[in-house]
Amino acid sequence: MEVVRLGLAEHVAGRTVAAVEVRHPRSVRRHLAGELDFAARLAGRQVHAARRRGKYLWLDLGDGEALLAHLGMSGQMRIQPADAPDETHLRVRLAFADGGPELRFIDQRTFGGLSVEDLVDGLPVPVAHIARDSLDAHFDLDAVVAGIRRRHTGLKRALLDQTLVSGIGNIYADEALWRAQLHWARPTATLTRAHARAVLTAATEVMTEALAAGGTSFDALYVNINGASGYFDRSLAAYGQDGCPCPRCGTPIRRESFMNRSSYTCPRCQPRPRHPHP
Ligand SMILES: [Zn+2]
Repeated sequence: MEVVRLGLAEHVAGRTVAAVEVRHPRSVRRHLAGELDFAARLAGRQVHAARRRGKYLWLDLGDGEALLAHLGMSGQMRIQPADAPDETHLRVRLAFADGGPELRFIDQRTFGGLSVEDLVDGLPVPVAHIARDSLDAHFDLDAVVAGIRRRHTGLKRALLDQTLVSGIGNIYADEALWRAQLHWARPTATLTRAHARAVLTAATEVMTEALAAGGTSFDALYVNINGASGYFDRSLAAYGQDGCPCPRCGTPIRRESFMNRSSYTCPRCQPRPRHPHP
């Protein structure tokens, strides 16, 4: 996502929107005033900056408004020459007054979407409850460590809680817990500051490595794992490794059910706490 944001900042900031074409109404369903209003609100507006939080990206339009994009499972923002053929799943097109490359929102499954939103304290309203992710330049590790230790929950639940820290999915959480040698059911209130710091740092490492090796967005990485190829095939220590030897100690990795999904741990490196959080 950070890669996408940088691309938008480089190619779109400073340009003025000339026209908007909505090719699928579902992709602007979050813009409650409708697609005509959506297009009218954008025409003539200059893009000031590209920003991001978690899976949300937005273009600051000035005057307290932003074009917000939620990429969902399959959404992509692409910069394309105006004469490039339309993509099969092109949903929204923004043309610019300079006649240069267009901004295209492509989304096969239409779970994502675009809307024009008011900014409150610099954030689009739907983003206000989303915490920064650990790759964000303004991520405050100490504040998140303190936040996790104040919770009365299990460690993995805290890592997946988007109001504490965003961007850590099931896979990254299991890999980070394995690296930090902590069990997923560890009550957060019993964590030392060093433990909390270690698992968050490990999550950042896993995300950074995956990003470097696997693609341009976290979504792409999930696609990769379903296809059983790429980075995860070679690099996963715990996630999906049920019965395989732990790369650190050789004990078989164990799968346990967790919130209708799975958690993978090494029973030796990540001993179950005496009083696990349910
Ligand atoms: Zn182990």
